[in-house]
Amino acid sequence: MITFLPLGGANDIGASCYYLNVEGTGLVLDCGTHPRKFGIDSLPRFELLKDQQVDVALISHAHQDHIDSLPYLVQHHPYIRIVTTPQTRAVAEVTLHNSVNILQEQLKDEMTIRAYSHDEIDLLIQSIEWQEYLKRFTVNGYRHASTEPVSASFHDAGHIMGSAGILVEHHGRSIFYTGDINLDVQSLLAGAILPNQKIDVVILECTHGSTDSSQLPSRKIEKFRFANAANGILSRGGSILIPVFALGKMQEILAMIWKLMEQGSIPNVDIFSGGVGKKLCGIYDKNRYTVSYNDTDVILTDIPQKDLYEVEHIDDLLRHQCIVLAGSGMMVPNTLSFKLAQRWLSNPKAGIFTVGYMDPGTPGFRISQSNKGDLLQLTDAHEPQNVSCDIDRFRFSAHSNRDGILSVIERLRPSTVVLVHGEHDSIDWMGYSIISQFPGIKVHAAEIGKQITLFE
Ligand SMILES: [Zn+2]
Repeated sequence: MITFLPLGGANDIGASCYYLNVEGTGLVLDCGTHPRKFGIDSLPRFELLKDQQVDVALISHAHQDHIDSLPYLVQHHPYIRIVTTPQTRAVAEVTLHNSVNILQEQLKDEMTIRAYSHDEIDLLIQSIEWQEYLKRFTVNGYRHASTEPVSASFHDAGHIMGSAGILVEHHGRSIFYTGDINLDVQSLLAGAILPNQKIDVVILECTHGSTDSSQLPSRKIEKFRFANAANGILSRGGSILIPVFALGKMQEILAMIWKLMEQGSIPNVDIFSGGVGKKLCGIYDKNRYTVSYNDTDVILTDIPQKDLYEVEHIDDLLRHQCIVLAGSGMMVPNTLSFKLAQRWLSNPKAGIFTVGYMDPGTPGFRISQSNKGDLLQLTDAHEPQNVSCDIDRFRFSAHSNRDGILSVIERLRPSTVVLVHGEHDSIDWMGYSIISQFPGIKVHAAEIGKQITLFE
């Protein structure tokens, strides 16, 4: 029997974690935290594993909502085997140490869980086993109840450095978990490479299910719009603030800006960056020949950049033309990008560009929805302020749009699909579209705590 039990990230985005039991072998697919929740509420429902066999954790990529609760899983299951791609292991070493610093601050008054330590992360990273893309490896558990082995393999998901879809196979039956997937070319990554074989079950991410793809501009048009808007601000001596996630978005946007500068499409002004995102640029550079990469000529660490953390006064950044890439993509309070945004908003020469998904309720969302001349309240605790700077929104997603996600089903032609990692509207649209376009495919909408039998 093969069963599937969601522990987190089912009909929601955040704390992705799924338990797959293959004839007695217990696999945990991903182990994230919820970025908008705190303490125990941010974790997957690990208590659902209480009476289950847990043998191996397979991690699709190193974004917080897919890996950050791994140290807590290890506390409950100290002998668990953890497998990732080598690139994800390298990225996770940087991001998990960074999470220690954030958690120690966030959880200082929290009684339900304690923050993990840098020593624990060092041990965890050392214990991660890595497997190259496409290499099949055995993951049989302690109580495996079949003479046929369970195998797994990673398939480049084109989402961020090291990201993988996870293929689990047993006795001629195959289950493919997409993780976060992007089939299109970005500035650096060249897009997902799907398994070239028949798949029985697809566990499918639905991030963009509710967004009509026909209304979305192409990456080429967005790049052109970005260059035009940047020229407008820089030519009047203004500075551009771009809040970015340190992992993935920072590297992709930096590469795009550099290429636009080299082509002469935008002026060669100072670029400010720093922090974790800068460290991760080195990992992108080192691994650029080991993944499906679009432009190996771009070496991120060779792009001239000034250190944002060495700037003495924020206002210095607003005194001359420059582009600032600042961590915390959604500009949550107490982060650098939040502090910068407060200053930027009052400067009529400056501009704020948003380049990715903003969760409703974050200051980033409120900024992205406002325009010059509006009165804006960044959080309920802040006084309203006038928006004097330009605000422009761009879409450079690292997830496939909904038609791209449907094309995964078209290519793999599974008999069963389990929908995960999407808000209700996204899951509904994806379920309805698969049922109507591919008659005969059985579709499940995953729910936390509700076990699905994939094979009797
Ligand atoms: Zn991701």
